[in-house]
Amino acid sequence: MSLINENFLLLPGNYLFSEIAKRVSAFKASNPNKKVISLGIGDVTQPLPQASIKAMADAVSEMADSSTFRGYGPEHGYDFLIEAIIRNDYLPRGVKLSPSEVFISDGAKSDCGNIGDILSTENSIGVTDPVYPVYIDSNVMCGRAGTPAARGWSNVMYMPCTRDNDFKPQIPDRRIDILYLCYPNNPMGVVLNKEELKQWVDYALANDSIILFDAAYEAYIQDPSIPHSIYEIPGAKKCAIEFRSFSKTAGFTGVRCGYTIVPEELTAATKDGRRIPLNQLWNRRQCTKFNGTSYITQRGAEAIYTPEGKEQVRQTIGYYMGNANIMLEGFARLGMEAYGGENAPYIWLKTPQGLSSWQFFDRLLSTTNIITTPGIGFGPSGEGYVRLTAFGRREDCCEAMERIATTA
Ligand code: PLP
Repeated sequence: MSLINENFLLLPGNYLFSEIAKRVSAFKASNPNKKVISLGIGDVTQPLPQASIKAMADAVSEMADSSTFRGYGPEHGYDFLIEAIIRNDYLPRGVKLSPSEVFISDGAKSDCGNIGDILSTENSIGVTDPVYPVYIDSNVMCGRAGTPAARGWSNVMYMPCTRDNDFKPQIPDRRIDILYLCYPNNPMGVVLNKEELKQWVDYALANDSIILFDAAYEAYIQDPSIPHSIYEIPGAKKCAIEFRSFSKTAGFTGVRCGYTIVPEELTAATKDGRRIPLNQLWNRRQCTKFNGTSYITQRGAEAIYTPEGKEQVRQTIGYYMGNANIMLEGFARLGMEAYGGENAPYIWLKTPQGLSSWQFFDRLLSTTNIITTPGIGFGPSGEGYVRLTAFGRREDCCEAMERIATTA
């Protein structure tokens, strides 16, 4: 008899997005003439930078000629992209990395989910509440999350993020082995400043913990004092892995490319107390289970670091942040409480009149025909909020705000 990994049976269904889809299709079926606008969309809408399109087209032409054709590439990525990342994303921020510390991948979701392969399932986990669900579900799959408990999972510590703490988690009062931090944050749209991030690095160093730092939205940071990388904090190379993505930076959600930094200095222990570099383990893992991101894709990613590519990325991010600004100003005029959206493409909107997340979702859908994402879907502390994203088209964003203004 073949046995399954029964941890998968513990996983709840993807309730949030399937429930949204169900309610939206029911609404559309009974209101076929209404134009529904989504402010809940988690995907980008603007095309790839021209520089990437050209670089990818050139790479396709190389593939068409036997003298320039490329087959399998290095599992951890081509040097041309790794060097562009080090030179452009890290050196200007005072962070020195060696090429062996950068691992190119097909995106941050895979890496955030797969990183658990190199860490014992006996480690305890800490996450913010609300949270990007991948951090939890990937731990449930391997048994590290424990068993379903009254609130979440038995081996997961939840750090509530509420209005009272400015949506920033408190430093735990006990030891946690692995902490997931995501800044700029999805879903709350908030960021940590250097002092706040330093407190986490200091905690991790003092407790021999590992921080898994998801910086998928770093390109949206507008305030020059906010750190883009956890390695801007002294000591972080000894305690943190950082995940980055080209998805929201350069519209690569469908192209698929990201990267993960595993510093050489970062070690974790065996049961008998030996310290093992995690870089070695991740390299081994990737070489065994991953065969590299396509050459064409990596050339496309490299192109965002050219002067034209940088300018095109800047414009697209400016476009989305313009949407965020329109929404923030609109909500302020209406006297509604909206958070985030200044250094992130997400707005965390407080529901009015004490409505629950789902009640407000339903009300917005029926009265304004706008789709949002109920905050409760990201964790219990998300109750009483909805998440809005800035990834829509400008005209939809403006129309949505006009509808809210006239019906609110
Ligand atoms: N991390 C966070 C916090 C995200 O919100 C997302 C995507 O929505 C990802 C990672 C996944 O990024 P990628 O497209 O690179 O897999």
